[in-house]
This record gives sequence, structure tokens and C-alpha cells, in this order.
Amino acid sequence: MCGIVAYVGDQQAAPILIKGLKRLEYRGYDSAGIAILDKQKNIKAYKKAGKVAALEALISNSDTEGNIGIGHTRWATHGEPNDVNAHPHFGQNKTLALVHNGIIENYAAIKAQLQAKGHHFESQTDTEVLTHLIEEIYENGQVSFDEAVRLALNQVHGAYAIVVISKKDPEMIVAARKGSPLVVGIGTNEFLLASDASPIIE
Ligand code: GLU
Repeated sequence: MCGIVAYVGDQQAAPILIKGLKRLEYRGYDSAGIAILDKQKNIKAYKKAGKVAALEALISNSDTEGNIGIGHTRWATHGEPNDVNAHPHFGQNKTLALVHNGIIENYAAIKAQLQAKGHHFESQTDTEVLTHLIEEIYENGQVSFDEAVRLALNQVHGAYAIVVISKKDPEMIVAARKGSPLVVGIGTNEFLLASDASPIIE
């Protein structure tokens, strides 16, 4: 079990993500990370093996400005626990960033197809393959962000909860789940997503 937390709204995302990840620590994990989409439409990702406190130390002197972001505590299934395999993961052109809880069973076949098209992968994870697949469909398929996620998930076997952000849709979070938990919190001009209600409750 790992943890997912995501935020879009009027507040700064990073402190909310870190607080939420700490509340999800009880679920067990080996690494942690966040990605923030800023007003200039850049996605900045920070990832660290070890505790959320180590991630917090990493970002303490970094630019985490932004009102939309995704966070993750990882329990490795594909690829050893290290900084590179930690989530969030990017697509080939770094248009999308994604966090994932679960397993993509047919990731190897999808990875081989994408490699044949010239995709390069930084990590050993099944998750990075799904991120590349969504981005590939989004950029080449003339479809909306949420439709690209839907089409990619049609090709996937396994259990997942995912949350995705995109440079091209800077006020939107797309989430999906199958066999893994994900709850939605709705506030005033803000939305949260998390693996359970603990990051959402005051
Ligand atoms: N299968 C993914 C990985 O190994 C996600 C694991 C998790 O649920 O934390 O990175």
C-alpha cells in the first residue's frame, strides 16, 4: 500500500501535500515525492528515497511555488526503492506528471511498443510506462487530457489509483481508480484527492 495526495485550489499546494503524505505514512512506504505545476506552467518534481522528512528537507530550499500538485509515498513493486524510481513520473516530453498506487500487469508489452517509437525510460517502474502511454495518446491523438487518460487505461491490465497533472491544462487534475482506493475532498474553490480521508480532514 502506498499513499497518494493531490491538491488544486487557491492555496500553495506543497505544504498541503507534505502534511497529507505524513498522515499517510502509517500505510508503509520506501520513498516519497511531489510535483508542482507553477503559474509559468512548469512542472517541478522532487523525489527522495526514505522518509517524508527527507523529502521535506530536500524541498526546504527549493522553489515549490504553485497551486496545483501531486504527492506520493511509494511501496516499490517494479524497480528498487531509490530516488529515480520514486514517483511522480514524467512522460517522454515532460508534459505530464503522474503518481500511481498499484501494479500495471502488462507494462512490459506497452514499454516495448513505446521503445520501438523512440521513447526512453529513466526508471524501472511500471508507472513510468503508463505515464508515457497517456502522454503519447494526449499529444498525438487530438484528444482532451481526461480522454487521453481514459484511452490509455483501456489498454492497461491491473489495479491502480492514479492522479495526473499536465502543463497544457494547468488548472486540472485527472484521477482514476480501479481496485485501489482514492477519495475526493471538495472545499471552497479547492479539491483534494487522497488514498484515504486522513489528508482531507482538518
Ligand atoms: N508499481 C508502482 C511502483 O513500483 C507503484 C507502487 C506503489 O503502489 O507504491 O513504483
